[in-house]
Amino acid sequence: FDSYDHNSPWALDIGGTLIKLVYFSREDGCLENSFGNSVRLEEVGLETSSKNYPILDGKLHFKKFQTSKINECLDFIESKLLQGSCCRHQEVSGKKKLIIKATGGGAYKYADLFKEKFGVTFDKEDEMNSLVSGANFLLKAVPCEAFTYMEGRKDFVQINSSDLFPYLLVNIGSGISMIKVVGDGKFERVSGTSLGGGTLLGLGMLLTKCQSFDDLLEMSHKGDNRNIDMLVSDIYGSDYSKIGLSARTIASSFGKVIFDNKELKDYKKEDIARSLLRMISNNLAQIAYLIAMWHGKLKRIIFGGSFTRSHEYIMETISDGVEYWSKGETKAMFLRHEGFLGALGAFKSYEK
Ligand code: ADP
Repeated sequence: FDSYDHNSPWALDIGGTLIKLVYFSREDGCLENSFGNSVRLEEVGLETSSKNYPILDGKLHFKKFQTSKINECLDFIESKLLQGSCCRHQEVSGKKKLIIKATGGGAYKYADLFKEKFGVTFDKEDEMNSLVSGANFLLKAVPCEAFTYMEGRKDFVQINSSDLFPYLLVNIGSGISMIKVVGDGKFERVSGTSLGGGTLLGLGMLLTKCQSFDDLLEMSHKGDNRNIDMLVSDIYGSDYSKIGLSARTIASSFGKVIFDNKELKDYKKEDIARSLLRMISNNLAQIAYLIAMWHGKLKRIIFGGSFTRSHEYIMETISDGVEYWSKGETKAMFLRHEGFLGALGAFKSYEK
């Protein structure tokens, strides 16, 4: 990172739902702390954070914007450009060009917009490559990054770099990618599913009329999925211990609804939110475990993407699912900077 010039490098990951931005500043005060000057972001309920990384001899800043509100991101970048930061110059055919590293589908979709508005060229980085590079960087270089979450307890896991590979990276964004990582730059996207974060939010908006992801999470806190889901006890009257199913195991997500003869308005939206959250989280945990087994009995499953949002109930459900299907042999792991893997990977590619 020593080679960076005063024009602090920036990297964007423009996804289907969220834009993730990572930028670096060497001097305290030359760029604002992400918590400041971010009123609009706070208003729409997006988390912002700023971390101090002594190893980088400066500060990495993290920001999120909604892709549907890309103008907010453009305004933010414009204000930075006016201050003379955020882009790097690169010599191309003897001419100096302003570039920003960019990844995600939006690096293609919005390239012309950025070019027209600011004359900035996106230096595109492959999305999967960026995710893996970001994850490897966090796992190797950042202390207290990976953690497990079981029974309400967060335990940080320091993984020895020499013992990191192989692992399964499950990136839960709008959709889900599952990537077997066997080394730096060595990986294969082995699976994926369209039932991801976008599904939770999309169904949630339809069924509960929630306005945002935060609304949905908030509702789910107050809900009880047993009013919506058909449990083993609803079918057996008790547990089905012979095959290891407890009375509270969900036999059929949303299955109780079929007996109720009620309309959507008769259900508490909090219960629906809780049910949806469990359905999506259980499903992805099970698929992740099966994929980890199928591809060489990978013992480590690391969940990234903005979906988990360090939300306790989501992490707990995913952890329980992995624990249950692996009979306690595998533990789900989460990352503190879960949503920024792609942006960090694109940022790291300035090193090349
Ligand atoms: P993508 O790159 O596809 O945009 P992300 O990793 O950014 O994916 O994750 C997007 C998902 O994260 C959403 O589908 C939603 O489930 C969840 N999410 C977390 N925070 C928010 C938010 N503030 N607004 C919308 N969705 C959010």
